[in-house]
Amino acid sequence: MQIRVKSGDSLWKYSRVFQIPLKLILDSNNLDNPNQLMIGEVIQIPGYVTKSYTIKPGDTLWKIAGWYQAPLDGVLLLNDANPFALKPGEKVNIPIRVTWSLVNPIQNYDYNTLVTDVRKIHAVYPFIKQGVIGESVMGKPLPELVVGKGNKKVHMNASFHANEWLTSALLMKFIDDYARELTNSQMLSGVSLPPLYESTSLSLVPMVNPDGVDIVINGLPEEEPYRTLVDEINNGSNQFNRWKANVRGVDLNNQYPAKWEVEAQRKPTKPSPRNYPGKAPLTEPEAIALADLSRRKKFDRALAFHSQGEVIYWGYEGLEPPESERLVTEYSRLSGYTGVRYVDSYAGYKDWFIKEFRKPGFTVEIGKGESPLPLSQFSKIYQDTIGIFLSSLYM
Ligand SMILES: [Zn+2]
Repeated sequence: MQIRVKSGDSLWKYSRVFQIPLKLILDSNNLDNPNQLMIGEVIQIPGYVTKSYTIKPGDTLWKIAGWYQAPLDGVLLLNDANPFALKPGEKVNIPIRVTWSLVNPIQNYDYNTLVTDVRKIHAVYPFIKQGVIGESVMGKPLPELVVGKGNKKVHMNASFHANEWLTSALLMKFIDDYARELTNSQMLSGVSLPPLYESTSLSLVPMVNPDGVDIVINGLPEEEPYRTLVDEINNGSNQFNRWKANVRGVDLNNQYPAKWEVEAQRKPTKPSPRNYPGKAPLTEPEAIALADLSRRKKFDRALAFHSQGEVIYWGYEGLEPPESERLVTEYSRLSGYTGVRYVDSYAGYKDWFIKEFRKPGFTVEIGKGESPLPLSQFSKIYQDTIGIFLSSLYM
């Protein structure tokens, strides 16, 4: 919600009237001098939307505020109308506190759905910064969301693998719930959120492989040469449920320089719906974007969400720090997922992250069955994994 500064306004006053933590208002606005607002300046108030209401005979702002459970002082701050001389037909803005979910994760979560949700989240919670870390092969911008400016830098990503797109819906639901409960000063899953927001900076790349996700959900791309290419790679089949790769048939989670040669020797040697590691490490723009981001931001820990198996992989060649074990023990305790230290699989993002930075890196395999997982599993997966999300911030 936007508010135009009037004489006597301050951020502190907005915080008190709207009952929104001052820190969140500060972080929603790029102000040179937050202690001195300029009259007419536009300020973003997170956690509210406005509703336009047309005055009818006999209405008072007191009544209207009551109907919408809006703070009366807030209605006065938001409007220039003289509260003692309302004219029928005049429009007033009512501040409505957002207590509902912006993200609906129970749907085929393709790239368009993601982009729409990112926009909604940023509009209601402007303290969440959005950026673009690169582009997919087909030119889709890869969004990153960043929450908080704390010292501990936590990164999470999802949908490295196309048919594991439920992981994107999961991360978007996490961020939506985190932002909403933070704004409403509520706990999430029994955890108090302000200390988490203060101490961490959370980076989220919710869909690493949007071209692939759209193939699995929507079928062959319209655009050439990709349509012909994907059709060839998939041997003319219109069944894409097993597709994990990007649009060029490269498995993005086999692209990292961490024993890549081992995978190249035993995996497909040409573009394929899954498992082809490419001609060399880091040839694909999506994999490169994640590597560049990780180098630039120097994350303290990283979690890559995949499906399925209810396991958490956490080691790489003994290079993982002791903190990895401490974290995975807590993740397992909270989720019931099994921690697995070593597995005969290399060249993944998690492997490279541990090797490159010697920091904790994890592959979290959500759910059970076959990917793409059915939407009916979503609630259980969310219940199981919300603790992993939160403990990554508080541990
Ligand atoms: Zn996967």
